[in-house]
Amino acid sequence: MVEQLQSLRGMVDLLPAATARWQALETTARDHFRRAGVHEIRTPLLEATELFARGIGEATDVVGKEMYSFVDRGDRPCTLRPEGTAGVVRAALQHGLLSQGPQRLWYGGPMFRYERPQGGRQRQFHQIGLEFLGFADPRSDVEAIAIAWDLLAALGLGDLTLEINSLGTPDDRRRYRERLVAWLEQHHDALDGDSQQRLTTNPLRILDSKNPDTQRLLIEAPQLIDSLEDSSRDRFEQVLAGLAELAIPTVRNPRLVRGLDYYGHTAFEITSGALGAQATVCGGGRYDGLVEQLGGPATACIGWALGLERLLILQERSGTTAAAPPPDVYLVNQGDGAGALALRLARQLRQAGLAVELDLSGAGFGKQLKRADRSGARWAVLLGDREAAAGLAQLKDLQGDGGEGPATVPLADLAARLLPAGG
Ligand code: ATP
Ligand code: MG
Repeated sequence: MVEQLQSLRGMVDLLPAATARWQALETTARDHFRRAGVHEIRTPLLEATELFARGIGEATDVVGKEMYSFVDRGDRPCTLRPEGTAGVVRAALQHGLLSQGPQRLWYGGPMFRYERPQGGRQRQFHQIGLEFLGFADPRSDVEAIAIAWDLLAALGLGDLTLEINSLGTPDDRRRYRERLVAWLEQHHDALDGDSQQRLTTNPLRILDSKNPDTQRLLIEAPQLIDSLEDSSRDRFEQVLAGLAELAIPTVRNPRLVRGLDYYGHTAFEITSGALGAQATVCGGGRYDGLVEQLGGPATACIGWALGLERLLILQERSGTTAAAPPPDVYLVNQGDGAGALALRLARQLRQAGLAVELDLSGAGFGKQLKRADRSGARWAVLLGDREAAAGLAQLKDLQGDGGEGPATVPLADLAARLLPAGG
């Protein structure tokens, strides 16, 4: 026996039983973005490593320890994208999109992070994300967040919390970092090991520590909001007021910082208590410095990303389901002439807009009819050599009460007979 191969750790197959739900989700998202005037962009899964090192920040978890990086055959350092924003900004710059005016973009697809797999955490996972490039007004923060909030509602998810904070300007953060580090140094011994290390590399990230003792300690720590300039604080108040006007409830979280270095001003996460430790479904914020950091002109931006696996877990828990739709027609056929005709007929019916499952087994009529029942199809079309020669088919209504037997229908009339009125 040959040893069977397995998928890599953290890499998950989506089997046919699950894809209907994924497609429903993607359809809802696509339609939602269309109505919001947001256009899709697709960028490569593989980018130069430098894009993420520069864009996300060397001292972040993502760049520091989660990237799938390798050197390709041409000695170029490459990385499977761990997130979507850096690639979208690179593409916008490379193709001069920003010179055509502000851009409202969305993307979807797989992302790769070398993390410890657990519920709601994989090494290949999927995101849908939005990026508003060239939007500075606080109202753009409100609109971007509302689009996320409403999409989650359209997907049938309630009971979500929008946590929000302001990270202010780079100056605000510099000021705050000094205050925070001074305070944390006094409590150095009470910090977990990871946080002690971050004290020198990326102290703001300590606020995001998942260690419960550190979290308890931080309740007393200086808060970012107190280091914000008046203008930053005003801006934050405008965003909060805008959200309140749309009846989107917010919870201020003074310790919410985001994992990526490029964020400033508005930062937010949408969380659900039903997800356990991996509570965040959607995270985002303003990243006014990123375009410049990647070699473009100063450009104000805001965006967010949703994790689809977590979203599907939530949908499952809230009982929202989507089953694969059954075919309209199950095509039963037996005999050489009928078998050949069935191939042609299936094609014709599909061209007419019907979903047709063609039985290829050559089994007896009885067996094929059982399969037709199990398929959930509305109709069975039965084709034997005798019918085939006469240009006829038997038509059986599988969803009827069984009172009426099959009807004999000329093949030429079949499509019209099966298509729903007006369809
Ligand atoms: P977390 O704190 O859970 O690690 P994050 O801050 O790293 O999240 P982001 O970079 O903001 O996550 O990505 C946006 C969303 O993508 C997350 O809110 C989450 O839903 C999803 N996500 C992130 N990493 C993973 C992963 N490894 N597996 C599945 N989903 C993920
Ligand atoms: Mg993470």
